[in-house]
Amino acid sequence: MIFMKKTAAVILLFLSFFINADVCAFVGDIKESCKNRDSYCCNLALKLGFYPQEQLFPAPELSLEWPVYATKLSSCIGPRRLGFHQGIDVPLKEGTEVAVVAKGSIKRIIHAESDPICGNGIVIDHGKGIETVYCHFVKHRFDWGSEGREVRKGETIGYVGSTGRSTGPHLHLGVKVNGVFKNPLCWLPKRSLDTSDCRYWDPYIYC
Ligand SMILES: [Zn+2]
Repeated sequence: MIFMKKTAAVILLFLSFFINADVCAFVGDIKESCKNRDSYCCNLALKLGFYPQEQLFPAPELSLEWPVYATKLSSCIGPRRLGFHQGIDVPLKEGTEVAVVAKGSIKRIIHAESDPICGNGIVIDHGKGIETVYCHFVKHRFDWGSEGREVRKGETIGYVGSTGRSTGPHLHLGVKVNGVFKNPLCWLPKRSLDTSDCRYWDPYIYC
């Protein structure tokens, strides 16, 4: 008898999930409701796995500046031989200054000794769940200050190098939105770029 009650309760719970999900789907666009993160419909859709989280929470409006003068990308975001490439690579001369793409604060300073992939790099927190990651600096700035220090848009935060997993001097730029790496090109001002090395992928994929 107890077993039956439990089974009935589970079935009811299961049904109510779907009935409510249906109501939510009829009431309005679930993605629209996810603009409010406390939305019941949005959270239900997430729990039921209707959409991946990164699709439900639309990327906030971002206005980023290019961190360097780029004419070519040596790699775009997307799957490649050594796993998923989580950003874009801009080949540049060693020592080229790298600027912060938007105002924020230093979240983490990455050291080549402890990160053989990124090498010397930095993570900037821009608030609203947005972070930018810069990798392969030749060296760290001596005047960076500590984590938490505020940085201005356009401020130099490093110099292009080839530390970490790198075959030549370049800047790796990653944009993380709510914990998921997105395509930086979605927010950077449009520029005429040689993307022939990204030949297998639309450079604007994942926007
Ligand atoms: Zn890269």
